[in-house]
Amino acid sequence: MHVMNEQLLSNNIANLLQRVRRSVGKSQYHNSDILVIAASKGHLAEDIRTAHACGLMHFGESYLQEALQKMVALEDLNLAWHFIGPIQSNKTAAIAQNFDWVHSIDRIKVARRLSEQRPQHLPPLQVCLQINISQEASKSGTTIEALPELAAAVVDLPNIQLRGLMAVPAANVSDDRQRDAFSKMRKALAQLKILYSCVDTLSMGMSADVENAILEGATAVRVGTAVFGPRNR
Ligand SMILES: *Cc1c(COP(=O)(O)O)cnc(C)c1O
Repeated sequence: MHVMNEQLLSNNIANLLQRVRRSVGKSQYHNSDILVIAASKGHLAEDIRTAHACGLMHFGESYLQEALQKMVALEDLNLAWHFIGPIQSNKTAAIAQNFDWVHSIDRIKVARRLSEQRPQHLPPLQVCLQINISQEASKSGTTIEALPELAAAVVDLPNIQLRGLMAVPAANVSDDRQRDAFSKMRKALAQLKILYSCVDTLSMGMSADVENAILEGATAVRVGTAVFGPRNR
């Protein structure tokens, strides 16, 4: 891995923010303050530092050990860290201790452990429930059908705060199918919002589908390749 050219990174970020702005302008949902999370897995701490100098504050990581190393290297910066990868039960303590957000909760056991292990001096962990919206065998996430029961259990936990839903829909499908998956997520979030006033976040949209996600109501996007270029894994 080599450190990215600062001008390139800065151009990438400017282009991404323009894509986000244009999509917000075209969307009927008018979510004007989209949370832009740079998915920094597979990229160097140095590049995160540069991205922060270019104005980004939120970073998403999928691999715990890699993330913890970067947090140490970037301790002097005030960054918000989002865990966006699959969660094994034996990783929950370190996640609860070190992250601000978790987007990938798909079972109650993991949610319970994160709440129990969240240190008392920190604010509640902000969490999204991951839905396997395209029902792919290879992807984590719960189903729309199982969502009400999971959400009801999660809102009762003291040290985590339910904020919304996350999805990684099938890639390489038609525009219509992409929109359809995102639209299902928007409807599921609307249902959840009726029950729980703390819910406000729809985390969907990546490098290839930011536009369609925002058109269908995304409030948070997680973008890696379009910011940092191809990953080195
Ligand atoms: C890596 C990753 C992203 C970003 O993907 P890109 O296609 O590189 O933008 C978003 N969400 C999750 C859960 C990821 O693991």
